[in-house]
Amino acid sequence: MNRKFTAICAALLLLVALSLQFAMRSAISTFTFALADDQPKCIYLTFDDGPSDRVTPVILDILKEEGVKATFFIVGERAETRKYLIKRESDEGHTVAVHSYSHRYSDIYASRESIIDDIIKCNRLIYEVTGNFSTLYRFPGGSFFAGDRLKEAVTEKGFCYVDWNASFRDAEFVNPEPQQLVEAAIETAAGQNRVVMLAHDSTDKSATAAALRDVIAYFKKNGYEFRQF
Ligand SMILES: [Zn+2]
Repeated sequence: MNRKFTAICAALLLLVALSLQFAMRSAISTFTFALADDQPKCIYLTFDDGPSDRVTPVILDILKEEGVKATFFIVGERAETRKYLIKRESDEGHTVAVHSYSHRYSDIYASRESIIDDIIKCNRLIYEVTGNFSTLYRFPGGSFFAGDRLKEAVTEKGFCYVDWNASFRDAEFVNPEPQQLVEAAIETAAGQNRVVMLAHDSTDKSATAAALRDVIAYFKKNGYEFRQF
């Protein structure tokens, strides 16, 4: 395990603790990373539940125009007929990581074996398309769904998992206006120097794509560096 990988794992574990608070619907986390003065403010844009023909290409176009890299936590079942989008994500320099193959909570969270099988199945597709297995994982719904036993099962297999500490809240609003999502992204990230932003690129999230440019503009203007896992 090299130093960079170890550092990433340490950062991810911190985020897990942080996101627990967030996910419990305390709305906005009060946790702030302790960063030295010379360390830049940074934001990781993450997109879950894609790819979709309708939303993913729009998001990729915007990211390209803005010169921003992101991390896509994909759903394997949805990617089977859209491998070209996973290829495009990878070819354009974004990180493709495991979210789930089926995204069916009742199957995934049934046992240690079922969660690992689901991850492996998704990862096989990632390997087939990109030539690389991912070691990065996001639990469907967040790690608080998993419990210690399943979290252990995932880390024992060599995966780092990452939650989030800010969100477009695009899985919570019903038919949101893009501006609502922009405001949610800004509000939930308030006061944090290190932001892991949750958004979705599944087929019903066109408002997310419509909000993305303004969110990027806000964080650029406020001195954040965009990073990918
Ligand atoms: Zn999901």
